[in-house]
Amino acid sequence: MSNKQHSETAAIVLNSRDHGESDLIVTFFCQGLGKLTGIAKGAKRSKKRFVNKLEIFSSLRIRHTIPQNNRLAFIAEADLLNGYLTLRENISCYTTASVIREVILLATKELEGDTELYPLLEYAYSKLNNEQPPSQLLILFLIRFYTIIGYSPQLTSCLQCGEEIQAKKKYYFHSETGGIHCNTCQTRGRATNTELSQGTLKSLTAALSQPLKRLHRLQFSISSQREALSFLHSYGRQLFQREIISWPFLDKV
Ligand SMILES: [Zn+2]
Repeated sequence: MSNKQHSETAAIVLNSRDHGESDLIVTFFCQGLGKLTGIAKGAKRSKKRFVNKLEIFSSLRIRHTIPQNNRLAFIAEADLLNGYLTLRENISCYTTASVIREVILLATKELEGDTELYPLLEYAYSKLNNEQPPSQLLILFLIRFYTIIGYSPQLTSCLQCGEEIQAKKKYYFHSETGGIHCNTCQTRGRATNTELSQGTLKSLTAALSQPLKRLHRLQFSISSQREALSFLHSYGRQLFQREIISWPFLDKV
């Protein structure tokens, strides 16, 4: 392997599966590169290079090749930066981290490059690991995630009549169009429409405009959390055109 060019990248493990007797195939989300899938030869045997490092959610520095023509990268080495143990040990942190992992795997392609998602992912996992309340964290992550992938929800004016939010009106999120409708424009009885209170809309809009390092200061009331998660879930299903498989486990813990 000495003739291959190696790169070094910060990476978070999103998936890991056995390959043959001794190898692992691992999918990372990498700083700058985006999603990268590679083979770690002998990872199930090699004590020094890989043991306890290639676990799901772990933050690493990896040395790897850049794959050509849809091949797998070759993972030469990994250094553990943070194992994020809480994410594996606390059930509500685990289910939240699993939803985050699933939507990233769904929405990204190999090596498409990245400037914003890796910092958001690292922020989300490190805050979760430090006991930030999981529901709030998931709301903050998802609203910014949808924006990064190009589907920022329209939450400041009615999509139908264009009027900005009025204190006396009610608002409903419409998954198919990706924005809110006021009660005058709302088509009744549609299952995809989630009512969002003025307080919830305000907090969500703030979550989009704050810098990452100040996001943790935002507080959502219990009812706002319920509304926000409900709309973020139905919007995700609409965007991906399928169920988010790990989502139902959130409700069980
Ligand atoms: Zn309207």
